[in-house]
Amino acid sequence: MKKHFIDGKVAEPHLQQYIDVKNPSTGQVIDQIARGDANDIDDAVKSAKSALYSEWGNKNPIERSRILMNISNIVLKHKDELATIEAQDTGKPIELAKKDIDALARYFEYYAGAADKVHGMSIPYLNDYSVVMLRERVGVVGHIIPWNYPAQMLGRTLAPALAMGNASVIKPAEEACLTSLRFIELATEAGLPKGAVNIVTGYGIEAGAALTAHQDVELITFTGSPQAGVLVQKAAAEHYARCVLELGGKSPQIVFEDADLDKALPSLVNGLVQNAGQTCSAGTRVLVHESIYEKLKTLLAEKFNQLVAGSPESLPDCGPIITEAQYHRVNKFIRECIDSKLPKIAEGKISPDAPQSGFYVAPVIFGPVPRDHKLANDEVFGPVLALMTFKDEADAIELANGTDYGLVASVWSENGARQQRVAKRLEAGQVYINCFGAGGGIELPFGGVRKSGHGREKGFIALEEFSRVKTMINHHG
Ligand code: NAD
Repeated sequence: MKKHFIDGKVAEPHLQQYIDVKNPSTGQVIDQIARGDANDIDDAVKSAKSALYSEWGNKNPIERSRILMNISNIVLKHKDELATIEAQDTGKPIELAKKDIDALARYFEYYAGAADKVHGMSIPYLNDYSVVMLRERVGVVGHIIPWNYPAQMLGRTLAPALAMGNASVIKPAEEACLTSLRFIELATEAGLPKGAVNIVTGYGIEAGAALTAHQDVELITFTGSPQAGVLVQKAAAEHYARCVLELGGKSPQIVFEDADLDKALPSLVNGLVQNAGQTCSAGTRVLVHESIYEKLKTLLAEKFNQLVAGSPESLPDCGPIITEAQYHRVNKFIRECIDSKLPKIAEGKISPDAPQSGFYVAPVIFGPVPRDHKLANDEVFGPVLALMTFKDEADAIELANGTDYGLVASVWSENGARQQRVAKRLEAGQVYINCFGAGGGIELPFGGVRKSGHGREKGFIALEEFSRVKTMINHHG
């Protein structure tokens, strides 16, 4: 049974209630987490606020940097343990979980290096003035973390927040928060002072909503559904807090007639199948020039027919869907595609060894998908790929930009001028040319436009989100 982590120690939930945690691979209950409420959130925010003015807040940048580096090292030391927890909690294949723990450590390594390198500037003004622009911490940061990459998302928002000297309250997703609870024990062991990071588990509409509504939270980073994102932004607006929102996508991979299909094919498949399609930046639409539609369809069908969904230990192409509710949602989406007579091109398999009680969905590809079909526009968050056609470059751009979302996109072509023309006109936070995902590089700024959200995480630029500017003007005559 797991409790909250507030003010440097384990804390009982005020409600004295707990939520079952299920392993999606087996459907079995493996643990319980505390059900947090507004009182728990208030305790956590108070602790974070006081940390800003005590041991944590008094650290020099170089001291913060060293603590972050210690955290990175301790995470790596416990990589297998953390990856096993992550795989059990989310159902993701163990190799993918290990990569996620590597990323968690890497976020702390990267931002450890940045903690003492964010400079302000001096600004030339009238001769009798001296002006400096300081870059300062924001204060208490609220982090709402999703269940699809719990460890990675923890690192992605927490490491830059701490690097800038903020103090944090984390509300992990109720579906998957065990890794973060083990992480905070390790981070404390690595020297993180009390109150710098607090974790309150529980439901989004209860603990999450209380965090976003708290008057003393100055910045909220949220990753999750567009619907919840709107609620978060409204709640933040009530007390004038800033928000960084990352809300998913319907990301296109554009395949021109001159594309190197041997190179593109693995990315077209993995861009969707990784994490069972439960990735905000999944390449869920493959847009192909009509002249090579049949060829690409045949190649993708061969690949999809071989894909296997299975339990984390069996090294499958993808694991189960996170919860029973999401499993039903994804299956309903697939049924609607079939009922609407959308041609099914190919479908993978569920491993016969996969536990019957797990939430497995076989990867599937449909096509050609009409532009007004639900599958062409709505996020499934499951392993379902839409194959669509375009007739020329302008049409490809219109189709790619034709959804409400804009998170990532890719261009597959051997024509350099076309690569540049198309990439520049795509409305997305990241555009790949002849690749997809690029290994998730922590150095690479990431974020959306429109329904995919706003603000940028990852890379050095994220430090701007987690800090604010003060201009100091001295009139010396
Ligand atoms: P969700 O948006 O409800 O949950 C994500 C996180 O937000 C969780 O920690 C949750 O507790 C919290 N939350 C929910 N409502 C909140 C509120 N009102 N105030 C504050 N916090 C709140 O997502 P979900 O219901 O778990 O999944 C539904 C859909 O969301 C998925 O099918 C998928 O399309 C999308 N999703 C996207 C991402 C992503 O990476 N962009 C991640 C998870 C889910």
